[in-house]
Amino acid sequence: MRKVAIYGKGGIGKSTTTQNTVAALTEMGKKVMVVGCDPKADSTRLLLGGLAQQSVLDTLRTEGDDVELEDVRSPGFAGSLCVESGGPEPGVGCAGRGIITSINLLERLGAYDASEDLEYVFYDVLGDVVCGGFAMPMREGKAQEIYIVASGEMMAMYAANNICKGIRKFAQTGVVRLGGIICNSRNVDNEYELIDAFAKELGTQMIHFVPRNNDVQRAEINKKTVIEWDATCTQADEYRALATKIDQNEMFVIPKPMATETLEGLLLEHGVLAA
Ligand code: ADP
Ligand code: SF4
Ligand code: MG
Repeated sequence: MRKVAIYGKGGIGKSTTTQNTVAALTEMGKKVMVVGCDPKADSTRLLLGGLAQQSVLDTLRTEGDDVELEDVRSPGFAGSLCVESGGPEPGVGCAGRGIITSINLLERLGAYDASEDLEYVFYDVLGDVVCGGFAMPMREGKAQEIYIVASGEMMAMYAANNICKGIRKFAQTGVVRLGGIICNSRNVDNEYELIDAFAKELGTQMIHFVPRNNDVQRAEINKKTVIEWDATCTQADEYRALATKIDQNEMFVIPKPMATETLEGLLLEHGVLAA
């Protein structure tokens, strides 16, 4: 089973990209579980047709330990399995620890058992802060393969570089590796070249360049992934291409995060100013 985590700055498109990629993987016949690891609990909405999945932490709070797998895991588009970890009571408790509590419960309830025949689990993790809490899925070996969603905007690259610092720390003593940068385009000038150079500098690859396309919003308003909404549109093919590249990926590295000056140099050399 491949244990994949998607990190990246808030609002960059982690949940959208994850669900659309998972839809493409299920279309390829893969059995996939998605575990939302963001207190916003909006990581599975498109796969569930707009239904809000009751979060694991809320369920534990209301029902105590007497929880069944069906209480916290719902079937979504094309046989995908959807879980939302949820968050602690605001102002109380550690969100990162909550993620681990959720994953441990799923393990105890048998969600990862061989009999489930899972080929992938995707963790959609928020990544503005790479505190001990949010680094927990990599630290505890729950995620082995990380993809970072970024764009050519400076703050997205800054966050991606920081996430690489976290990955590097835990990769040196553990199994976690970086599988690539997913460029989710913001239509910044020279974005392809910039993120390609950024990924190489980090010692990894830009695994796919996902164009910005309003069909993503059209599908979202219909509470669907792009593939479910219109399987024939070009954006659906982009997510299929990304899913295939992840499925066939063999490049897993310990990233080399860069100094802020190097990052700024890259922006000067390849970014908006160069264009
Ligand atoms: P995150 O999970 O990183 O916080 P989301 O996945 O919720 O971000 O995405 C934020 C918004 O960006 C969504 O409303 C989505 O419609 C939009 N979006 C994401 N990717 C694309 C894209 N490739 N083209 C157009 N809109 C996109
Ligand atoms: Fe929040 Fe991170 Fe501190 Fe946990 S470690 S309480 S997630 S800031
Ligand atoms: Mg999200």
